[in-house]
Amino acid sequence: MAVNSLWAATAQAAPPLAPLAGERQCDVAIIGAGYTGLSAAWHIAQSGREPLLLEANELGFGASGRNGGVVSPKFRVGFSAAMARHGREAALHLYHTGHAAVDGLAQLIDELGLDQAALHLGGHIAAAHTPRALAGLQATADWVKRETGSASVRLIDAEQVRELTGATLFHGGLLTPHAGGLHPLNFTRGLAWRLHQRGVGIYVGSPALAVREEGGRFSVQTPGGHVSARQVIYATNGYSDQTPVTASLHRRLIPFRSAIIATEPLAPALLASLMPGGQVCGDTKRMLRWFRVVGDRLIFGGRGAFGQQDSAQAFDTLQRSMVQVFPQLASVAIGFRWSGLVAMTLDYLPHAGELAPNQYYAVGYNGGGVAMSTWMGAQLAAMSAGEPVQLGLLAGKGFNPIPLHGLRAPGVRLAAGWQQLLDAVGR
Ligand SMILES: Cc1cc2nc3c(=O)[nH]c(=O)nc-3n(C[C@H](O)[C@H](O)[C@H](O)COP(=O)(O)OP(=O)(O)OC[C@H]3O[C@@H](n4cnc5c(N)ncnc54)[C@H](O)[C@@H]3O)c2cc1C
Repeated sequence: MAVNSLWAATAQAAPPLAPLAGERQCDVAIIGAGYTGLSAAWHIAQSGREPLLLEANELGFGASGRNGGVVSPKFRVGFSAAMARHGREAALHLYHTGHAAVDGLAQLIDELGLDQAALHLGGHIAAAHTPRALAGLQATADWVKRETGSASVRLIDAEQVRELTGATLFHGGLLTPHAGGLHPLNFTRGLAWRLHQRGVGIYVGSPALAVREEGGRFSVQTPGGHVSARQVIYATNGYSDQTPVTASLHRRLIPFRSAIIATEPLAPALLASLMPGGQVCGDTKRMLRWFRVVGDRLIFGGRGAFGQQDSAQAFDTLQRSMVQVFPQLASVAIGFRWSGLVAMTLDYLPHAGELAPNQYYAVGYNGGGVAMSTWMGAQLAAMSAGEPVQLGLLAGKGFNPIPLHGLRAPGVRLAAGWQQLLDAVGR
């Protein structure tokens, strides 16, 4: 099923890919061809081993083909909160991991010549929706300066936020220069092209239905064939409920629907009033709203309890939020509406590890995985080669199935409703 997104309407062609038919052998069978799986495949191929990718749907069906393309080194967990809970070393490791992920993404795009991914690191603004949120951003800026000695973030006042974004309702913000945006589907397709040109097998329409261990190898069954592999990587993130092979990962995750709208092309004067500083922006609400200019349109996204499917009501809510931030867009038509699933975790951090000997996973990006999932792919490649990896708080230890996971739908609605209420009352 194709996603009717701005990205799909503006993307380069995908490489010619077909479902798996018959038997194949490889070193590492990778289940899921989003950024995690594609990046793992690239790094595995670079190390001289043979990867093979199985994708249940079309290429880019998951979050990697639908996301907002915001590239940021931040996690949903604040660094000072991480330090209070886990100590200074762990918090610093988290900070450096976030920056390494953005560096790694930029380096990979450069190395592979993925110009159409249109990566632009023009900066990210976290815009404070309340004075209290601004105090939180100030604390982050102080933490970064004090603990890392770096000038990687800078607090800006309400007037500067207005100048850079064109929005007047924010109380100030935090500017992260080493961040920005890309074309998410072109990044997916670009990675797939490079793998395809290298002869790596990528099979679409090929859900892994069963994984069996036989005589020291794994047999991965799909509707049209099977793959025999020494190792298996699970890279299914928010889409881990598609077949039983990833049921144990699915039970560790809380999928949330996240939606995006893109305006119709805007008149030059109107366009010039939006995000004139060239950054991308997200606010500080618990139910995050974010926006960026792409070409001659504004795209605006938000997370919420949007249910199993797209809903007209949810898109209307998003449009009202957009007009609240940019009143000048009140009579502008929306050209594209789409949504996808992000995978939340109980500690708001992604995790990677070994599910069982020779079976690895990386999931749980909490809606912020463009750079991080690409970085995790490289870690999975190293892990499967037996090389040491330093995951710190992102290691799989303690990342267990969520009790009463079957009740998550009402739970997600309740949690989302509570968070929206806290946002509404400015807490
Ligand atoms: C609407 C939206 C907006 C977002 N915006 C941003 C953003 O602006 N910035 C940011 O950093 N992050 C954002 N994210 C999050 C980011 O897109 C994800 O963290 C990232 O793409 C995860 O990549 P992945 O490869 O792990 O998973 P995915 O890209 O979801 O890929 C998983 C794939 O596994 C496949 N699959 C599942 N089961 C099987 C099976 N049994 N066999 C074979 N294949 C299977 C699925 O079909 C899917 O294609 C957003 C996500 C969404 C949904």
